[in-house]
Amino acid sequence: MTKDGIRYYLVSFTDLFGVVRSKLVPATAIDDMREEGAGFAGFAAHLDMTPAHPDMLAMPSDNIYPLPWKPEVAWIPSDLQMDDQEVDHAPRLVLKRLISRAKDMGYKVMTGVEPEFFLLSSSGDELSDDSDTRSKPCYDQQALMRRYDVISEISDAMISMGWEPYQNDHEDANGQFEMNWGFTDPLTTADRHTFFKVMVKSLAEIHGFKATFMPKPMANLTGNGCHVHLSIWDAESGKNLMKGDGELGLSKLAYNVIGGLLENAKSLALITNPVVNSYKRINAPRTTSGATWSPNTVTYGGNNRTHMIRIPGDNRVEVRLADGATNPYLLQAAMIASALDGIERNVDPGERIDLDMYAEGYKVKNAPKLPLNMLDSLRLFESSNFVEKYFGKEFHTAYTKLKGEEWDEYMRYFSAWEKANALDV
Ligand SMILES: [Mg+2]
Repeated sequence: MTKDGIRYYLVSFTDLFGVVRSKLVPATAIDDMREEGAGFAGFAAHLDMTPAHPDMLAMPSDNIYPLPWKPEVAWIPSDLQMDDQEVDHAPRLVLKRLISRAKDMGYKVMTGVEPEFFLLSSSGDELSDDSDTRSKPCYDQQALMRRYDVISEISDAMISMGWEPYQNDHEDANGQFEMNWGFTDPLTTADRHTFFKVMVKSLAEIHGFKATFMPKPMANLTGNGCHVHLSIWDAESGKNLMKGDGELGLSKLAYNVIGGLLENAKSLALITNPVVNSYKRINAPRTTSGATWSPNTVTYGGNNRTHMIRIPGDNRVEVRLADGATNPYLLQAAMIASALDGIERNVDPGERIDLDMYAEGYKVKNAPKLPLNMLDSLRLFESSNFVEKYFGKEFHTAYTKLKGEEWDEYMRYFSAWEKANALDV
């Protein structure tokens, strides 16, 4: 045991599909591991490698997260190397490179995320709370307080780690919750987002539940979004560059950012909405609560939650597209790349739309629609020059290939729906 009471380290990396992979390293070996890295077979994770590739090494970062529920174990997000070279398609590295690119342009990006999740029974088959049945369950105090033990334990953990959590609520679906913490730089946000998911799943298990971030775990209920709040600051002066004398108190740069986010949303949906199930959340029919709270069109409004982008104030924008399946590192990378592209190309987002898009969306002619399924999304991603320019060729190729294989696997799956609808053709 080291002097800080840590007996074991989880030397960890996050693969292309957002799966957290780790080796449990005794404290007695961590100094060597810091020098030499923890060895993994890349092919065994969702990375574009073969079984013949040499050892892939996870090099521990300086960020150490002792598990608040088991403080003798600490999680360390790591960066991947092979043959003394960085692994170009590793999600954490892709993000770090985009943060540097923003810095080279004179910008510091700041972000916060709002990951929603469900607490289900331990088997995952049903909601954990039989009494959570309101048709409008959002902010339901009774349902929230029936889960006080687990929610407060997660919140206390965030306080102890200095994340500055500020609110917790029951969300719009029965069994659904959201917990919010402070915004910060995108790499820290991505590390915390990754750790948050680990923590929520772990503490839910300890309390006898199963937590899920699945985009649409229940057909008729609101899905799990992962909204991002984003602002661009001057790297030197530390001034928030979103404020200005344009519409709603935003600057021209802020509108370029909105333009970039809108223009690249369809190409990046494979990152923000990465799984087959994601497309049951966006473009969804009304839920039992009355609204899906997820976008159908690539549009922006003011403080209006029916658009893909909401302007909640004069200091930031909220992007409402991503869902709970998104890879935390690639999500941040997608936001930064879109914002920089909008600034670089001086993209005009067009006029704001002040309509309820759920009820009156039909009035907006030519509003770009989001991809209807993962295959649409895959094709848009694959043919995008923007993705290659900002994420690099190796990442573009690797992610397209692995997501293509996932789609092919899905297509080989024989569903009950097919039989029900085609048996008597
Ligand atoms: Mg929410």
